[in-house]
Amino acid sequence: MLQQHLLQQLESIVGKENVLTSPESLKAYSYDGTTNWIHEPDVVVFPTTSEQISQILKLANREKIPVTPRGGGTNVSGGSVPVQGGIVLCTTKMNKILKIDKENLTATVEPGVVLQDLTLQLAKEGLFFPPDPQSFLGATLGGIIAENAGGPACVKYGVTKQYILGIEAVLPSGDIVNLGGRTLKNVVGYDLLHIFISSEGTLGVVTKAELKLRPLPPARKTLMAVYDDVAVAGESVYRVLENAIIPGKIELMDNWIIRRIEEMMPMGLPVDADALLLFECDGIPEAVDKEIEQIAEIVKKYGAVDVRIAKDQAEADKYWMARKAGFAATFGKTPTVLSEDVTVPRGNIPAFIRKIKEIAKKYDMENCMVGHAGDGNLHPSVLTDIKNKEHYDRAVKAVDEIIEAAVELGGVLSGEHGIGLEKQKFFNKVTNPVVINLMKNVKALFDPNNIMNPGKIWD
Ligand SMILES: Cc1cc2nc3c(=O)[nH]c(=O)nc-3n(C[C@H](O)[C@H](O)[C@H](O)COP(=O)(O)OP(=O)(O)OC[C@H]3O[C@@H](n4cnc5c(N)ncnc54)[C@H](O)[C@@H]3O)c2cc1C
Repeated sequence: MLQQHLLQQLESIVGKENVLTSPESLKAYSYDGTTNWIHEPDVVVFPTTSEQISQILKLANREKIPVTPRGGGTNVSGGSVPVQGGIVLCTTKMNKILKIDKENLTATVEPGVVLQDLTLQLAKEGLFFPPDPQSFLGATLGGIIAENAGGPACVKYGVTKQYILGIEAVLPSGDIVNLGGRTLKNVVGYDLLHIFISSEGTLGVVTKAELKLRPLPPARKTLMAVYDDVAVAGESVYRVLENAIIPGKIELMDNWIIRRIEEMMPMGLPVDADALLLFECDGIPEAVDKEIEQIAEIVKKYGAVDVRIAKDQAEADKYWMARKAGFAATFGKTPTVLSEDVTVPRGNIPAFIRKIKEIAKKYDMENCMVGHAGDGNLHPSVLTDIKNKEHYDRAVKAVDEIIEAAVELGGVLSGEHGIGLEKQKFFNKVTNPVVINLMKNVKALFDPNNIMNPGKIWD
């Protein structure tokens, strides 16, 4: 509980209507997209300007109050859970798209802009911002930058850090700084911009961002490839890429997910298939047609038992909606889901999938898998119940082995969700202590009093 005089100072900075302390509000801001981390803050504040954020951080720094930045609260690593209490600094009222600059293919946004709102505005101008986390209805640009989020489109377009030209950020000292700029090229001193991107709210608060945009492709087409072995589906990913075709998206759904989606919203998915891959190609119409034809040939050659090319956008939208519902399908089925975010080199996807199956069998765990297969970024999930200790402990062991298997295959712990609270154990295990030390020194330089999102990444 914060002392009354500190609450009053916060109220005088952002206005009484932008400070929440009721038990219901504190509960509402105690969790994020994970199902297993909960901790209430002492207060939630909604600043509306960078200057207000500067004053809040100055106060917090002086009084050593933890500050957890928060956008949509959709992250799945425990990142916006205020594990040490203090202030949740929520940016959702800073939600203006300040400028769309067609001439320079850029946009300037506040951190609380929800991705879907940006996407709709940009589409009116014939533009798009490629990073496309599937939480686009709630995820904000601040959270997307802080997590360096990705999504299906990354296979062709890359992740968030490739689309951020510059940011304005408030440091724990209260200083307001600009990192990067508005140009495509920028080699002026150390690249502090890219240290901030993916820093998970531990270095300061992003208060504005300059985004790089692309013109919307004039055509897109979707192909569904059906498999009777999920590992064989994994092989098709690199067979397509090695044939010099880079589709816009390559996404995987396994049998558990296919059946569950059909149960939730019947749409004629192949429920007997062990897995399916969804490919989307985008670009000029002739190229898209050609690429889709080539993909159909390649996947048939490498084990697809059926191939469906969506006849129109409505059919394609149906398939993509199924993929988007993948997370909801899993989380709606069981009290606790341990969902991973490991990423392996794409040539190792089949071996990794086989290993996941082996581990799930060994621990007798119901499991499922969706993922951005085109990036080697899979989300294998183990279904459990945190209240059933024996089952939960077994589930944790299975997940630990899945992570170890990914690392042994040359992969990483997290492709897009970050370390947060969820992956600290493994972060410490697989990261060279010298590198961890360098990171801690960077953190200390930005945030000597450790007020920014304390407890995350390595504590
Ligand atoms: C259904 C579902 C699907 C998802 N699909 C994807 C996906 O495809 N790809 C993907 O990458 N992720 C995905 N995610 C995870 C999540 O949506 C992303 O991590 C997203 O970027 C979080 O944005 P947010 O606004 O909700 O941030 P929050 O959850 O509020 O915060 C995330 C982190 O960013 C920090 N932060 C927030 N705002 C700021 C700021 N202004 N300045 C500094 N730090 C800040 C927080 O402290 C926290 O550490 C998914 C989540 C769900 C629930």
